[in-house]
Amino acid sequence: MQDLFSSLGLTPDLTQGGTLAVRSPIDGAEIARIAETPVSDMPAIIARSQTAFRAWREVPAPRRGELVRLLGEELRAAKAELGALVTLEAGKITSEGLGEVQEMIDICDFAVGLSRQLYGLTIASERPGHRMMETWHPMGPCAVISAFNFPVAVWSWNTALALVCGNPVIWKPSEKTPLTAMASMKIMERALARFGDAPEGLVQLVIGGPAVGEALVGSKDVPIVSATGSTRMGRIVGPKVAERFGRSILELGGNNAMIVAPSADLDMAVRAIVFSAVGTAGQRCTSLRRLIVHHSIRKDLVAKLAAAYASLPIGDPRKEGTLIGPLVDAASRDRMLSALEQAKAEGGTVHGGAAVEGVAGGAYVQPAIADMSGQSAIVKEETFAPILYVMGYETLEEAIALQNDVPQGLSSCIFTLNLREAETFLSAVGSDCGIANVNIGPSGAEIGGAFGGEKDTGGGRESGSDAWKGYMRRQTNTVNYSAQLPLAQGVKFDI
Ligand code: NAD
Repeated sequence: MQDLFSSLGLTPDLTQGGTLAVRSPIDGAEIARIAETPVSDMPAIIARSQTAFRAWREVPAPRRGELVRLLGEELRAAKAELGALVTLEAGKITSEGLGEVQEMIDICDFAVGLSRQLYGLTIASERPGHRMMETWHPMGPCAVISAFNFPVAVWSWNTALALVCGNPVIWKPSEKTPLTAMASMKIMERALARFGDAPEGLVQLVIGGPAVGEALVGSKDVPIVSATGSTRMGRIVGPKVAERFGRSILELGGNNAMIVAPSADLDMAVRAIVFSAVGTAGQRCTSLRRLIVHHSIRKDLVAKLAAAYASLPIGDPRKEGTLIGPLVDAASRDRMLSALEQAKAEGGTVHGGAAVEGVAGGAYVQPAIADMSGQSAIVKEETFAPILYVMGYETLEEAIALQNDVPQGLSSCIFTLNLREAETFLSAVGSDCGIANVNIGPSGAEIGGAFGGEKDTGGGRESGSDAWKGYMRRQTNTVNYSAQLPLAQGVKFDI
């Protein structure tokens, strides 16, 4: 472990002697003690970010992109080590730890191209001799508050875009995963050193819990707050940022569903269901939590799933072949077990779901399938664990109504070979989620698309498409190159 730490620049002075204990979900053992950022330091940190902003906004965007290109290079060089640290600190299996770093590399590539594409529109003016256009400008410090389950990727989605858009970044990672954050900052520092003349304080890291986050959320000098985590957190953060007319990008909980129609390719559906329901031990915001299956195939599908679930290797996420690692901690396992009790009390039949001995000290569970007679209260909650609730339907209309009848609106999908069903699901009367797929599970989004969801998921968008606009301010410009001063709407005001 010490070798891994030192290969990422995490020297003992950084990982020992602090007040924040870091535990590995693999065996619950303490792996580091990190110094926390005193809340009293936050005003100075924010002031440094403001100073950095004044310099960075003047750097041409393609040059800003060069920093992100270097970050991508450094991430490529450190991929194996950072991926291994994600596994150690967040408990992801090896390929998912590496996949998370790959996502960081992908967003860097995307943002480098974007740095030459921050474009506005030219709009027809009603006045002769006038040109109207819109331009996009940097906004200022962007706070990134991130969750434990994507300990580094979420930072990179925000940081790569914020930097090319001309904004400094202050990152507050989850208090459960500060080590991967510190390692990512070391990688960033290498990119900054190679870049040469970036302003001091352009990318900063603060360590701690909600109080440190709240210092960012409450500051007028932090115009953008991108917060990823539970809906409970978003309900606190969103109104606080709104109160000061700041901009928030909220990426909150999901309760993602798959509709399986009679025409579906069931073998393909089973593969998609298993990956999205049990991958990352059900701890993705996009994990599949609800299966809405046509009555005619329900029994068949549940039997196939039960067979697939029976053979899933659960255990040490570092071991080759393991598909299900630990939950983040014992509290998370307790929440899963109590959700299953509630499912039973609400009429469900539960298969699996027992706590298992993976590695001593870790919280390992068998993934569960809960056959429900309807969408009861527990099904509408996001339990951050591998529970798959199964419900039946008769008509597509009914299935879509069930899919939409939860507070969250992140990701959704339908398995069907029927074009009318697929298109209806994607139409205005279909899924109400930010992400809707056909013949693909709800998790594992690509960087090129905008990522985020509606309703209690918070409404924010990150990553691809035009999500960059969330990190810039829009300005409408009208230029008069005539010798007259005509007023809009034909108003006369002669003096
Ligand atoms: P969490 O809400 O407990 O914590 C998330 C972050 O918010 C942490 O950094 C935490 O310190 C901070 N925080 C908590 N209260 C705060 C406050 N009052 N002010 C400022 N910061 C505060 O979430 P978690 O358990 O780490 O992560 C799991 C949750 O995150 C799930 O609900 C999951 O769906 C969600 N998530 C969503 C997305 C998405 O893109 N929609 C991605 C990943 C995770």
